[in-house]
Amino acid sequence: MSKLDYKVLVGLEIHVQLYTRTKMFCGCALGFAEEPNSRVCPVCLGMPGSLPVMNKQAVEYSILAGLALNCQIAGFTKWDRKSYYYPDLPKNYQISQYDLPLALNGNIEISLADGSLKKIRIRRAHLEEDAGKNLHTAGNFSQVDLNRAGTPLLEIVTEPDMESAAEVRALAEELQRIVRYLGVSEADMQKGHMRFEPNVNLIITRAGQQFKTPIVEVKNLNSFRALENSINYEIERQLERFLETGETMEMGNKSTRGWDDAKEVTVLQREKEEAHDYRYFPDPDLVPVQPDEKWLIAIKNQLCELPLKRCLRYIKEYGLSDYDAGVLTETRATADFFEEAVKCNGDAKRICNLITQTGLKIANEKGCKVSELGIPPLQLAVLAQMVKEGLISATASVTVFEKMTQSKSTPQQIAESLNLLQKSDAGELEGIIDEVLKNNQQAVEDFKSGGKKSGKARGFLLGQVMQKTKGTANPKVAGEILDRKLSQ
Ligand code: ZN
Ligand code: MN
Repeated sequence: MSKLDYKVLVGLEIHVQLYTRTKMFCGCALGFAEEPNSRVCPVCLGMPGSLPVMNKQAVEYSILAGLALNCQIAGFTKWDRKSYYYPDLPKNYQISQYDLPLALNGNIEISLADGSLKKIRIRRAHLEEDAGKNLHTAGNFSQVDLNRAGTPLLEIVTEPDMESAAEVRALAEELQRIVRYLGVSEADMQKGHMRFEPNVNLIITRAGQQFKTPIVEVKNLNSFRALENSINYEIERQLERFLETGETMEMGNKSTRGWDDAKEVTVLQREKEEAHDYRYFPDPDLVPVQPDEKWLIAIKNQLCELPLKRCLRYIKEYGLSDYDAGVLTETRATADFFEEAVKCNGDAKRICNLITQTGLKIANEKGCKVSELGIPPLQLAVLAQMVKEGLISATASVTVFEKMTQSKSTPQQIAESLNLLQKSDAGELEGIIDEVLKNNQQAVEDFKSGGKKSGKARGFLLGQVMQKTKGTANPKVAGEILDRKLSQ
């Protein structure tokens, strides 16, 4: 390990697959794991003479995401051809946006481990099409599947404002929550809906002098883990390389490296191309996009309260813990369900407990959202109130919750039919307690001795009451009656 003083700088490029029905410039439906080359047409196959037609929904989703990221939306944006030759891109160019992206100059707020907030600047966000996939599993030759070719991607580029792998991960996770809240992407990592490319370098201070290490771009990471680990690896590698060679940004070239998931190392791929290598030029087949005021307002109306803001509000407004608020706001459906129940005059903390400790577990087992369990928010609020008033125990509320997912009965009806209502009826409890006291004279004497045995004896007697009532006695009421009788 080095004792050098250094600072980490990371900027991130993120490709987010948009949740549209069809591809970016043709009518082919998006799919996943379909039979290779079953979702293609002359446009996405790059046949000569075929003409692209812009997917308006993809533009709308991109503007919505841009607004959520506090970006300026361009009044005029156009499509450019980015030339490159590769079998997964039969046109030999990718339709992208070069100098006039759809969204510019935004920021995204992230929550750090110490609870503080940090704003990461967004440089730009533009829309482009994805390439197909080259497959190298057939033996002595390669194959190409063009089902993915032409899938709409939103490419988001941040400024190099992140100073650790953990910050980068926090940003990536926040962005995932945001695009899911907005409904513009499923953001399913397993399906490659989010791909990351961090640009990493260090500013090293040695003997009062500053040195910048050459920037490395790590390509095509598709998990949060790979993102975080590859950055941590790069930090160590760049430190060691600087110590060995003294190489700085001015001397070295910007390079791209891949991440070897098995060996957990980055591997040199190539020296970075410059923009002019791509021969960008405006696509003559597509008209520029000029979003007008009316369209922008309609899109703005689709904005919602974003997850981080909502999480902070839950902590402040409902007194929930950071952890609980985080769990509730992880998905919009869960947060909406929680809030609807709270609006029915429900007890926020207890509704939260029911959702996070029971609801999410059942939903997870069933593979659905907690809001899809068939429990009306009002009934959830009623159940929470029953716990609050001591009508049922917290343990019994789990059973009632489970039954509520299977029947349309109210929580009261269910608790009654399962004999789960706690006995708070003083008259009935007094009889039971008298009997317990009569049958346990030794414990009563132990209690009255006032010695060490006193507390234990009281616990034993209360336990007997709970046993006699099969756990349905309200422990608070039973305890009060017991204490009154013991002090007589
Ligand atoms: Zn197509
Ligand atoms: Mn791109």
